[in-house]
Amino acid sequence: MPDFDAIVVGLGAMGSAAAYHLARRGRRVLGIEAFGAGHQLGSSHGETRIIRLAYYEHPDYVPLLWRAYELWAELEQAAKVSLLTLSGGLMIGKPDSAVVAGALASAQQHGLEHALLPSAEVRQRYPALCLAEDDVALWEPRAGYLRPEQCIDAHLRLAVDAGAEVRYEEPVRGWDASASGVEVRTSVGGYTAEHLVFTCGARMTSVLGNAIPPIRAERIPLFWLQPNAPELFAPDQLPIYLWEVEPGAHVYGFPHVEWPGVKVARHHSGDYCDPDHVDRTVNAEDERRLRSAIAERLPSLNGPVVSSLVCLYENSPDEHFLIDRLAENPNVVYAGGFSGHGFKFSSVVGEIVADLVTRGEATPHAAFLRADRLAHRA
Ligand SMILES: Cc1cc2nc3c(=O)[nH]c(=O)nc-3n(C[C@H](O)[C@H](O)[C@H](O)COP(=O)(O)OP(=O)(O)OC[C@H]3O[C@@H](n4cnc5c(N)ncnc54)[C@H](O)[C@@H]3O)c2cc1C
Repeated sequence: MPDFDAIVVGLGAMGSAAAYHLARRGRRVLGIEAFGAGHQLGSSHGETRIIRLAYYEHPDYVPLLWRAYELWAELEQAAKVSLLTLSGGLMIGKPDSAVVAGALASAQQHGLEHALLPSAEVRQRYPALCLAEDDVALWEPRAGYLRPEQCIDAHLRLAVDAGAEVRYEEPVRGWDASASGVEVRTSVGGYTAEHLVFTCGARMTSVLGNAIPPIRAERIPLFWLQPNAPELFAPDQLPIYLWEVEPGAHVYGFPHVEWPGVKVARHHSGDYCDPDHVDRTVNAEDERRLRSAIAERLPSLNGPVVSSLVCLYENSPDEHFLIDRLAENPNVVYAGGFSGHGFKFSSVVGEIVADLVTRGEATPHAAFLRADRLAHRA
């Protein structure tokens, strides 16, 4: 008999949720993490993550988002902790920008509550945001932010309560799978199970090689700035915003939440990297790029840097998620390639992964995330 029913490799956003959903279904789960609890070397740290429904990336994500919201609420209740704040959200840009037009298409297709606001109205309601005359914003009341460190902690805490074992500082070095089961080799020892789940974020390719489409790590600097007019960034004065400043270039931010300073960042940097040898210090060029995006759009935020961090995106070839079983080894499930927009889904990704492990199939709503959409040969 194998040591476990399922081994989950990588306990960030997705692995913690997968471990929770598997353990609450009565499966004997081992979760293995290369680094310490709450580490800052992956993709899931930094105080806040945006959640929004009017999904500009593709309307097919919306049914998964509805389920994600439900599961976040359930998790909050079960863990007795507040994880999600509905601040409302603004998708800002030119009317034909991918962000505005895409969010509008999702809202219309799925009947989501929204309003398209002209530039002057946004400036009046939210004086921190200086939209150009020809900018517009799609407002959605159900957008907001999650607290990523607390979400992961809640999933793992409840997974352990349900019987899961978790091991930190124990990188997985190798694995084998056959029809009769799986074996994992770590820096410490070896474990067997019926099923294996890989949720290794920016390091997926180093554990799965070319068994899956390539996942590339991208270095993303995050900033907390001291605003010149802090009252404009108070929690009840500003929603989350995502602003397409040029075609394909975005800046996004939050009201003040808890950590000192107000968080703001650019979505995508173009700086692809080796996740284990990335420069983790934010430099003058990073700051210059951010300030050039916000100087005229958010002048009252453009104060001194209070703190900064580097985080990693984990990009799939088409920037859509990859959640599937390995064709050669259906008892090996993976969830990766979240491409800088996956956190909000982690609650439902945990459920999808648990479905793939326990039932061999997931909700049809997740079918568009299978790897066979990409022309990839192992
Ligand atoms: C700066 C930034 C801002 C973002 N903003 C948003 C946002 O606003 N909204 C949103 O929805 N999403 C956002 N995202 C994206 C989202 O945070 C990620 O898609 C998500 O956190 C990825 O989770 P993950 O579990 O795949 O990766 P991770 O959380 O990085 O977890 C992977 C884990 O696997 C472990 N691991 C790797 N290799 C091994 C191994 N060999 N052995 C054992 N363990 C291993 C790693 O140490 C890590 O802990 C953002 C991402 C970044 C970087």
